[in-house]
Amino acid sequence: MDHSVIEVFCYNGGSLSIRIGLDSSIDGAAQELHRKLLDLGLKCYNMCFNRDEKDNLIESDGELHSLACYCFAKKIAIVKIKVVVCVTSLITSSGFIYAKNFDGGVRQQFALGAPEFRCKLIEYSIVSGYKYVLIKNDEFRVTAVCENKKEGNCKWCIHSCNTYGSFEIKKINLTHTCGFAFKDYNHPPLTSYLVMTHILDFARDKLSLSLGDITSFYSREYGLKISKHMSYAGKKLALTELYGDVVLSYNELLWYTKELKRRDIGNCVDLQVN
Ligand SMILES: [Zn+2]
Repeated sequence: MDHSVIEVFCYNGGSLSIRIGLDSSIDGAAQELHRKLLDLGLKCYNMCFNRDEKDNLIESDGELHSLACYCFAKKIAIVKIKVVVCVTSLITSSGFIYAKNFDGGVRQQFALGAPEFRCKLIEYSIVSGYKYVLIKNDEFRVTAVCENKKEGNCKWCIHSCNTYGSFEIKKINLTHTCGFAFKDYNHPPLTSYLVMTHILDFARDKLSLSLGDITSFYSREYGLKISKHMSYAGKKLALTELYGDVVLSYNELLWYTKELKRRDIGNCVDLQVN
């Protein structure tokens, strides 16, 4: 018997229809949502459906399946699900990005080594709201523990290190036992390197990238506020990554013009830069 139902997920004027049955999962639905409703970005949200004029949260696979059975029993073919962005973390939600960041578990590899792993940690912290401290942090090994490890004896930790040339997770426990965390999307703990990794493709496609463009990009893609200072630092790194060091490039241009004149005395070179 097919207990499936069409669930129409609505968010910010957009909608997405997904067939939900007894083999569906919250994570699967979340991945579809993030793929199709792009303005959800990094935002943390809840799914709820209205029954008897009351909003009911759907937080587990079991609740998703119960809804499918309820609709089947009531002969409801299509049900509307509201996607509500959370302002605080008082309501639990499994953020897609941080789940994806470490879903490989032990032996998950990071091709770019420690810098990539640190970026994943920061993203995880932004989405989950939980802060961490690095008790080991160099190019060969990085160990992060929950900032409440001492006071609350929280067991959350991730340890990665370089083994025979590949940087990989050796130990991981993503369960926080220290209570709820507060998500602060207005002051995310970004670093210039992380901003660079986020905006690199965007900067490649946009020749004159302004700080306003970066602010809009973060708001649109991640639902985060970014300071002007951090936008500037990230932009500078991204441009260096894409086009090399500005001073070095300029010096090479000067050298090139001089060389053109030296090789052919009659040459006239007009160097224009903006
Ligand atoms: Zn914790």
